[in-house]
Amino acid sequence: MATTFSLREFPQERTSESSGRDVQSRCLSSNIWSPDPIVVNPPEHFVAVIGGAISGSVAAEILADHGIRVAVFEQNARPYGKIEDGLPRWHVEQRKQEYARIDARLRKPGVYYIPCTKLGRDVHFNDLANNWGFSAVILANGAWRDRDLGVPGANEYVGKGLVYQNPFIYWYNHKNERSYGGPRYETPDGALVVGGGLASIDVVKVLQLENYERALRARGIETDVHELEKGIPAVCKEHGIRPEELGVRGCLLIYRRREQDMPLAQAPDNATPDQIAKTEQVRQKVLRFARDKYLFRFQDRRLATGLIVENGRLTGLKVAETKIDGRRSEPIPGTEQDIRAPLVISSIGSVPEVLPGISMNGEYYAFKDEAAPRHVEHSHVFGVGNVVTGQGNIRVSLVHSQQVTKKLIEENARISSGTNDPARMRPMDEARAAERAEAAVDRVACWPALSSEQLMAIEQRIRALQQRVGYTGDYDAWIAKVTPPDLE
Ligand SMILES: Cc1cc2nc3c(=O)[nH]c(=O)nc-3n(C[C@H](O)[C@H](O)[C@H](O)COP(=O)(O)OP(=O)(O)OC[C@H]3O[C@@H](n4cnc5c(N)ncnc54)[C@H](O)[C@@H]3O)c2cc1C
Repeated sequence: MATTFSLREFPQERTSESSGRDVQSRCLSSNIWSPDPIVVNPPEHFVAVIGGAISGSVAAEILADHGIRVAVFEQNARPYGKIEDGLPRWHVEQRKQEYARIDARLRKPGVYYIPCTKLGRDVHFNDLANNWGFSAVILANGAWRDRDLGVPGANEYVGKGLVYQNPFIYWYNHKNERSYGGPRYETPDGALVVGGGLASIDVVKVLQLENYERALRARGIETDVHELEKGIPAVCKEHGIRPEELGVRGCLLIYRRREQDMPLAQAPDNATPDQIAKTEQVRQKVLRFARDKYLFRFQDRRLATGLIVENGRLTGLKVAETKIDGRRSEPIPGTEQDIRAPLVISSIGSVPEVLPGISMNGEYYAFKDEAAPRHVEHSHVFGVGNVVTGQGNIRVSLVHSQQVTKKLIEENARISSGTNDPARMRPMDEARAAERAEAAVDRVACWPALSSEQLMAIEQRIRALQQRVGYTGDYDAWIAKVTPPDLE
C-alpha cells in the first residue's frame, strides 16, 4: 500500500511560500475563498521537466518562480549534464560556476528533484505524459546520441578501433575518479578524428594533451592538463624543449567541407554577404589558433567513404576528397586514399536519444512551432535546449529555455478555467473576474487547474521514486553525498 503523507512532509515545502500553497490547495478542493482579499486563488499546476542541467534547471526555476510545482527527472545522480560530462575538465572555473547556478535553481521551493531516474528506463514516456496528471511535460534531456559516422558497417567496430565522442569525453572527464567503472579508452598518437565542430576541437585537444603529457613525462618533465591546455609550444619552451623533439606525430582532424565552413562560429540570421565573409574569417582564425596551440594535423574537404579492417579491428578509413556545392559535399571519384590510424574518433554531432513513445522527425523529436516547440502528437509536451537545437552552447540552451518556458507560462498558466468562475470570488472582484474570464475564452490551450487530490497523487508518485534511490528531499545533502571526493 502506498504511504500517505501530507504536503508539509516534503522538505521542499518547508517554506513560508509553501504554507501559502497549502491554503490554496485546500481552497481549491473545498471552494473556500482565497485569504487574499484581491487576488483570486491562483490555479495549481504541476509540470514535469526531463533533465536537470542548464535548460532543465532554467525551466524549473522560472516555473517555480511563477508558483508552479516542478518535478525534475534526472537520469544521473548529479544534474549537471554536458557541463560535467561534455565540457572537458580543464574548464575548472566555468564548470564550478555553472554547477552553482544549477544548484541554486534546483533547490528552489516548489522544485522536486528526482535523481537517478531515466525517462525510458525507470519511467515510461506514455505513462508520464498521459497518466501522471502533469499540466505539461518539458523535455530538456539534451543530445546524448552520437550521430552515426555514416560509413556502412562502422558501428560493428565500436570499441574495436572506433570510438564516439560522447563516451570518449565522459571517460576523459571521469577517468581519474577512484569509483569510475565505465569503459576506458586509449589515446594513441596519430589518431584520426572525423569532425569539424567545436566539440571535435575538444576531442583533438584531449588527444594532443594526453600525448604531449606522456612524451614530456618520458623526458622526466611533469606537467598536467591544466598547464598544457594553455598551449603546448609555450609549455615546451618553459622546459627548454622544442615540441618537434618529442616525436609526437599528432592526431589528424578531417572535415568534409572547407575550413571556412566549419561550425566554429555562427553567422547571424539573414546575414549579409559581408557578415558571411567575416564569419568565415573568424572560423579560420579559430582553427588556426587551435592548431598553433595544440599542434594537430588538419585536412578539409575530406569524406570518410569506407573502412580499413585488419584482424577484426578498425585500423583506418578510406577517405575521398570532396567537391563543395553550397552546403553539399560530394566525394570526387578517383580521389579515395587510405588513412591508417590506431584509433578513429567520430565527432560529427549529437542528437537526442530515441525514447519509446516519443515519435521522431529524422534525428530529432517531432516538434512543431519554433517559438515554443511542441510535440506533434502530444499538445502538452514541449522541448527546450539541446534536445531541440542539437548543438549550441550554454548560453543558447539557457536563452532557449527561458524564452520557451516564459511563453508557455504566458499562454497556458496565467489564467485557468478553475479560477474564472465568479461564483467563487468575492463580489468586489466580479468586474475583474469577468474581464479575466473573457480573456480566457481565447485561451484554448490553457492548462486546467489541478485539484489538491491530483497534486497529492503526483507528489506520492514522486516520493516513491525519490525513496527508491534514497533521496530524502534535501538537495544539498544529496549533492554532497553523491559527489565523488576526487571529482575534478
Ligand atoms: C565536448 C563539448 C564541449 C563543449 N564546450 C562548450 C563550451 O566551451 N562553452 C559552451 O558554452 N558550451 C559548450 N558545450 C555545449 C554545452 O555544454 C551544451 O550546449 C549545454 O550544456 C547543453 O545544455 P542542456 O541543458 O540543453 O543539455 P544537457 O547538458 O545535455 O542536459 C540534459 C540533461 O538531461 C539528462 N537526461 C538525458 N536523458 C535523460 C532521460 N532519458 N531521463 C532523464 N534525464 C535525462 C542528462 O543527464 C542531462 O543532465 C560543449 C559541449 C560538448 C559536448
